[in-house]
Amino acid sequence: MAELVRHRGVSVTADWPARIAGAQELTHYSSRGVRHPRIRYGDDDPRWGEVPCRDCAAIKGEFHVPDCEDEHCPVCQAGPLQSCECPLDELGLSRREPDSPAGGLIGKRAVLILLGVLVLFAVGCLWFLIRWLPWGQPT
Ligand SMILES: [Zn+2]
Ligand SMILES: [Zn+2]
Repeated sequence: MAELVRHRGVSVTADWPARIAGAQELTHYSSRGVRHPRIRYGDDDPRWGEVPCRDCAAIKGEFHVPDCEDEHCPVCQAGPLQSCECPLDELGLSRREPDSPAGGLIGKRAVLILLGVLVLFAVGCLWFLIRWLPWGQPT
């Protein structure tokens, strides 16, 4: 069980202030190959901006920590991320559509890498055979 500290009046784990700082680096979410600027705390609903986010302790003008249940979805803008089904690359595989174009691209890339490794392996084997088989020796 992680130790909890009070940060801006919200109970968070000891590493949380660093996670809030890290969350500020993530300025966009990608969905179906399109980048969407994240919605800052306070821009989603001005009424909430006066106190730190009750879930992730972000303050007005900061980004929520990813997976915060109060962060609004920048794709559909219909409400909190947790209640919509938009696939966002940054939030992990669980939210990604299995047959999305992005997923297909990753699959294709994996096949290409595998092929590359196989070709390298074959070339290595050939080199080994030519180098070490008796008929390959210059003697
Ligand atoms: Zn939050
Ligand atoms: Zn959404």
